[in-house]
Amino acid sequence: MKIIDGKKIASKIEFETKQKLVGCDKAPVLAIVLVGSDSASKIYVDKKVKSCLEIGIISKMVELSKNISQEELLNSVNDLNNDKAVDAIMVQLPLPKHISEKDILNSISSAKDVECVCCSNFGRFCEYGEYSVIVSPVTPMAVMKILDSCDVDIEGKNAVVVGNSNIVGKPVTMLLADRGATVTVCHDKTKDIAIHTRWADILVVAVGKKNLISKGMFKKGSVVIDVGINRNDNGICGDVDFESAKEIVNSITPVPGGVGPVTVAMLMKNTVDLFLKNN
Ligand code: NAP
Repeated sequence: MKIIDGKKIASKIEFETKQKLVGCDKAPVLAIVLVGSDSASKIYVDKKVKSCLEIGIISKMVELSKNISQEELLNSVNDLNNDKAVDAIMVQLPLPKHISEKDILNSISSAKDVECVCCSNFGRFCEYGEYSVIVSPVTPMAVMKILDSCDVDIEGKNAVVVGNSNIVGKPVTMLLADRGATVTVCHDKTKDIAIHTRWADILVVAVGKKNLISKGMFKKGSVVIDVGINRNDNGICGDVDFESAKEIVNSITPVPGGVGPVTVAMLMKNTVDLFLKNN
């Protein structure tokens, strides 16, 4: 069984992204909006800031109180939309419960929407596919990049996506279907997930529940992409019970060290692509 090295895949994307900036007389600026002091969000943001530094992207942190009103947050995003020095904007999720995530994400200017989350970009992506937008959703593209890096032949395969969020599950489903896979989507109303996962040549899990996918739920020789991030005594783990998977699957992404680093690398790539498109 092969353990897929997300850090190695990420390094390659970061190298290629850095190359795109050779000869540019200024650096791209990525604004990262962080609301509140959630410790997990802080860790993810620190990783993004570190990656920006390594590639030559200026990260502009906008840290706001967890008590900020919806209107104040909309104004902050709007200031970034109007700031000519800012090339790309991302809002770290989750947001406090009193804020509408949908409204905030949709307020990001489509030209600076580095994660493809505003309605016009996401709608275009859904309707016409990844090549219709300047940048595509980062984690779903990280999943596809991992499959491609492992030379997984997607066309004609049975793929199962567990999780149906706008950020991960839905766009992954679309990308896999666009590449010729027959895709089944499972979510929290699915009665028996195992019935579906057992026939998955490609299994993508993005839920946020430790050990949701465990013994007896894998197809022999399959490829498993574990997007989930959960806290445990040793740090973090995914949604897949790694020990029971490794006896039967062909390859699997570990957590940590799998999808996470590739997602950050795709964010860097998207920032540079927006910068180059808009300058
Ligand atoms: P989310 O918005 O909370 O969506 C979770 C999805 O899982 C929903 O579609 C939900 O179904 C489904 N679900 C909930 N309980 C389930 C169950 N028991 N069985 C099957 N499906 C169930 O989460 P998200 O933003 O997509 O993130 C999912 C996980 O990926 C989280 O752990 C997050 O931290 C992680 N993540 C990792 C990265 C990375 O770079 N590695 C990036 C983004 C997210 P309904 O639609 O029916 O509610």
